[in-house]
Amino acid sequence: DRLISAEGSNDEERQDRAIRPKRLQDYVGQQELRTQMDIFIRAALGRKEALDHVLIFGPPGLGKTTLANIIAAEMNVHIRQTSGPVLDKAGDLAALLTNLEAHDVLFIDEIHRLSPMVEEVLYPAMEDYQIDIMIGEGPAARSIKLDLPPFTLVGATTRAGLLTSPLRDRFGIVQRLEFYTVEDLASIVTRSANLLKIAIESAGAHEIARRSRGTPRIANRLLRRVRDFAEVKGDGKVSEQIAVEALAMLKVDNNGFDALDRKLLRTMIDNFAGGPVGLDTLAAAISEERGTIEDVLEPYLLQQGFIMRTPRGRVVTQNAYLHFGLQPPVQMGA
Ligand code: ADP
Repeated sequence: DRLISAEGSNDEERQDRAIRPKRLQDYVGQQELRTQMDIFIRAALGRKEALDHVLIFGPPGLGKTTLANIIAAEMNVHIRQTSGPVLDKAGDLAALLTNLEAHDVLFIDEIHRLSPMVEEVLYPAMEDYQIDIMIGEGPAARSIKLDLPPFTLVGATTRAGLLTSPLRDRFGIVQRLEFYTVEDLASIVTRSANLLKIAIESAGAHEIARRSRGTPRIANRLLRRVRDFAEVKGDGKVSEQIAVEALAMLKVDNNGFDALDRKLLRTMIDNFAGGPVGLDTLAAAISEERGTIEDVLEPYLLQQGFIMRTPRGRVVTQNAYLHFGLQPPVQMGA
């Protein structure tokens, strides 16, 4: 079972809300982004203006939604949240926009999935705080302009390249989330453990951090599973030993790869001689969607140097062979 896509139970969602950082100072890591956002927010507050529109991109679970909520909290405004696929009618967007109060944040997750018609409504809204809406139908139909309060659009997407350029160009602030370092993830795990009243040793937090694919959401989820293990098999305390045993049971390996990561790498090695293999062929071979490979699997494997992108498709690197205890092909020079 894939940790990142599995929907949590209600209890887990409640816990998620409890450990989600509420203010910029609690947002761990992403130092550059934090410094910048702190300045932009303070400047906007000083001028008593709405913050400029913000585009956040990065793989799932890195903190896009969290950051959107933090922006609203720091600006002392409300946040309205929706997502690209949900917002399929121009009228729905108009309703949302006209209900905003001055300086409010409108958060659109998966903003790359907006329909072209909805995007058209968004352009003048972002640029001039105005929308054109059609009233009536047929020959009597006419369009009227409505003024909107100044607001901040926060858009989130997994990849910047998915956005149309007219939309991308209308964001004054563009932030890219990076995978987190092990140190940052260890702080996140420790912070979450404290909030959830889980006893944890620093080495235990480190072990979880090391195997979290650079992703806070995975770190928090692994922490909860390791806690279960600690309560049933140990004395409830998350030590290094308990973490190692629990993660082995969860089949999260030393590099933090889970079953799906391994399936992707093994398929490339076993069925395609290490590549190059095209994305669609690979998707079919492992029965996953192309988008899942591009958004969820590939970014971390690329960043860690286990696969590479070439014009003819994806190839695995030496690291991938070595990970499975296999001899890399000779031309790889090992
Ligand atoms: P995304 O919207 O990018 O998929 P989320 O904002 O939902 O990711 O983040 C997933 C979880 O990870 C959140 O519930 C939050 O607890 C945690 N998290 C994300 N970023 C951070 C961070 N910088 N510091 C601490 N916790 C974080």
